[in-house]
Amino acid sequence: MSDSANDLSSLSSLLPPPDSFARRHNGPDAAEQARMLEVLGQSSLDALVDTAVPADIRRDGLDLPPALGESAALAELREIADKNQVFRSFIGQGYYGTHTPAVIQRTILENPGWYTAYTPYQAEISQGRLEALLNFQTLVTDLTGLEIANASMLDEGTAAAEAMMMAHRLRRGKGSTFFVSEKCHPQTIDIVRTRAEPLGLTITVGDHTTFAPDADTVGVLVQYPDTTGDILDFTDFFAAAHAVKAYTVVATDLLALTLLRPPGEFGADIAVGSAQRFGVPMGFGGPHAGFLATKDDFKRQMPGRLVGVSKDAQGNPAMRLALGTREQHIRRDKATSNICTAQVLLGVMASMYAVYHGPTGLRTIARRTKLLTELLAAGLRTAGATVNTAPVFDTLTIGNVAADRVHAAATAQRLNLRAIDTHTVAISLDETTTLEDLHSLLRCFNESVHLPDLTSPSSFDLNSAQFTAPFARTSAFLEAPVFNQHHTEHELLRYIKQLEAKDLSLCHSMISLGSCTMKLNAASEMFPVSWPQFGTLHPFAPAEQTRGYAHLVADLEQWLAEITGFAAVSLQPNAGSQGEYAGLLAIRAYHAARGEPDRTVCLIPTSAHGTNPASAVMGGMQVVPVACDDAGNIDLTDLRAKIEQHAAKLGALMVTYPSTHGVFESTIREICELVHAAGGQVYMDGANMNAQVGLTSPGHIGADVCHLNLHKTFCIPHGGGGPGVGPIAVAAHLAPHLPGHVNWGSTDGRVGAVSAAPYGSASILVISWMYIRMMGAAGLTEATKLAILNANYVAKRLDPHFPVLYRGNEGLVAHECIIDLRAWKAHGLEVEDAAKRLIDYGFHAPTMSFPVAGTFMIEPTESESLAELDRFCDALIAIHGEMQAVVHGESDATNNPLVNAPHTAQALAAGTWDHPYSRETAAFPAPWTRNSKFWPAVGRVDNVYGDRNLVCSCIGMAAFAEN
Ligand SMILES: *Cc1c(COP(=O)(O)O)cnc(C)c1O
Repeated sequence: MSDSANDLSSLSSLLPPPDSFARRHNGPDAAEQARMLEVLGQSSLDALVDTAVPADIRRDGLDLPPALGESAALAELREIADKNQVFRSFIGQGYYGTHTPAVIQRTILENPGWYTAYTPYQAEISQGRLEALLNFQTLVTDLTGLEIANASMLDEGTAAAEAMMMAHRLRRGKGSTFFVSEKCHPQTIDIVRTRAEPLGLTITVGDHTTFAPDADTVGVLVQYPDTTGDILDFTDFFAAAHAVKAYTVVATDLLALTLLRPPGEFGADIAVGSAQRFGVPMGFGGPHAGFLATKDDFKRQMPGRLVGVSKDAQGNPAMRLALGTREQHIRRDKATSNICTAQVLLGVMASMYAVYHGPTGLRTIARRTKLLTELLAAGLRTAGATVNTAPVFDTLTIGNVAADRVHAAATAQRLNLRAIDTHTVAISLDETTTLEDLHSLLRCFNESVHLPDLTSPSSFDLNSAQFTAPFARTSAFLEAPVFNQHHTEHELLRYIKQLEAKDLSLCHSMISLGSCTMKLNAASEMFPVSWPQFGTLHPFAPAEQTRGYAHLVADLEQWLAEITGFAAVSLQPNAGSQGEYAGLLAIRAYHAARGEPDRTVCLIPTSAHGTNPASAVMGGMQVVPVACDDAGNIDLTDLRAKIEQHAAKLGALMVTYPSTHGVFESTIREICELVHAAGGQVYMDGANMNAQVGLTSPGHIGADVCHLNLHKTFCIPHGGGGPGVGPIAVAAHLAPHLPGHVNWGSTDGRVGAVSAAPYGSASILVISWMYIRMMGAAGLTEATKLAILNANYVAKRLDPHFPVLYRGNEGLVAHECIIDLRAWKAHGLEVEDAAKRLIDYGFHAPTMSFPVAGTFMIEPTESESLAELDRFCDALIAIHGEMQAVVHGESDATNNPLVNAPHTAQALAAGTWDHPYSRETAAFPAPWTRNSKFWPAVGRVDNVYGDRNLVCSCIGMAAFAEN
């Protein structure tokens, strides 16, 4: 070894901090890169990239702050965090304080075993989160008193909007008004209004006691308890709505429902809300799991993801996502919603909170909250204030006070109350409220008033501490064993770990999901998510307390604008699908502002992701498909024809770049120009930004707007199916039409809110901030180049076995590649067999049958090392060998390791083994499986059976197991 102590240049290389992040984020080191480039016959990484990426779209150089090491970036973010001031929040309005049980924080929120998993499409290696989500659905159905619930919605406001759309579909176009109670949360009303406009629905906001539903009423939405805290009886109102065939929707609160008669018992067709206060920090607005429950009759119109019970190949109960035929990836413009990424991790946390506390514990938390609220009300009354006369749970609207003085006194004690008007304030209590808080709160109104003395019978009306008929809950809930067994920390810890062990995540092996960009979610990026300066802020806290968030948001908006080549960014949409919707709303508003409101045709290539057509419909556009040619590119002849045919009405083209076929189309500039020439706007689906960052950008290519998936390109983990952040970036002419929010007051030109919170899932923005801050321009650009290198290396190795379907310049792919397995069908082998067999090798299948049926789309990302890429390729090549054996008759046509995959430990240990191949071949097909074996919890899951016998709660699961 040469000692270079005397070499000045090598000494000076020691000066930068040693924790450079790009080295840890990016997989292949210099030596590995050289080996891979040799395999590809490329002289250098730059030569490869120059060949793969069309020269006319290249734009080198990003203007970003220089990279910081991990510890320096964390220190800088800590300074930003310290600009936030954490006051006690009594603002309520849909966001409440909660104690996240430490065991849940440590083993779920902060545990890569949970947060790096993918959406549970491969059910056999997802039974853990599927079970947790089944618990979530059970929790929601039990508490709402309805028959079926999904997992999950993006937040309460969008869940209400989805319920309105459900009612609209159920009415099959009859009726045009949707009533919204004025006592719903303001942000919910804002979102519902935004959603209604493109659908041609009129929103009537008013007092439900004076509104008479008629034949034109599609549905009605009320809140229970309402935004003022009142709990009202909607039985008669709902009967009147049903009499004219209107659908009834209740926005409600799960904690309150532990004490209150559930919506299903007073005529609700749909219940929606947020599970935030079940152990999920407010996080300045998100992420949280929204929920939607409904009657069994309406299940086929439900939006979002639904977990159901089915059986596996051995007849054992097994869960999987149910009724997929409602969803955007299958139904496209006919889908029940555009939701793709949901809020799985938060749904899991909320369900575990319920498992931890159980029905008795939850009821105790709720009773305590109710009692404290009544004590505060009694104190306030003696202070001369007016409070609600209807029954309340946790919220008081307090009138006859000098609001300015009250708020000033509250601020002095670091308390936030909800501002209503000059003589009214509102206060919401929660699980975290203490008696001391009540004293502090009372002091804001009157220095000399005291709480009633609970030891003196005359000072407090005991009856007020509980609900009476018709409001009191009489039905039981959460009787399933799972909610009654894990109330000690040991029991919950082991239950969580048991479930975690059933799920394959990035902790085990690469997850090469094309289009989904499962890259490294670094620990240093995740740390700040747990900092209370980010976690405990209420989204409507006063601006002077949230300067840290303002700084974070401004940084990210600026960096993402630079990266996309656009003028302005909105971080509000809380998934890519919501970004698409927001972007199309901006386009719609732009055309309307120019006097061209009829530009509502949206051209979408047939290869597009299902969210594109589903979002276009939500944006009030008519979807016109554009064909792709044999090379996978947009068929320019068809595009020209469609543009000509619809020229007067052309609103937008939605295009993904690089295409969903994994190719840098060389005609992309021309495509944008054709659309612009006809007066249309170009929406770029930015899911594939991982192939663009630092090399080109949507703005540079000529698009007008794009969304980003921060949970793909910018390192927010997938969370097992969410959360996500789907910001949109727009060119200057669209900037006036970005989403507004009722909390921002007048927003001229802006479209309405698309998420309940002004900055959507704000608390996880820290992850993307850390990523960009630690990578810098050079690191990000290198990551893009390595993503292209890794994809081309995998394509090169696999092509002799499974042909690569589409290629660009000189046979190169972009950051992902599609490999073709269609030919094997003739031999009785489906792409699904290869997908399930990959499980036996310890891998998650790549994206299956999108955008082409019978194929895999592989996206390795820059974060995988050569060793991992090789292991993955070796697995697929070995599977190719097993497929060959079937074709050549060396392996049985119908009883072989492929069609029987995956193999469970149970099946392997069974006394009988009626397969012509060995147990060893079944379970240990590759050397690394000897060292580290991932066992699937169940065998191949029967999808069809589950959809025919739909069971979506854990009660059903237990019954199934007994049968
Ligand atoms: C992931 C994806 C989307 C949808 O984004 P979500 O965040 O899941 O809503 C849209 N288009 C493409 C091409 C995608 O890969």
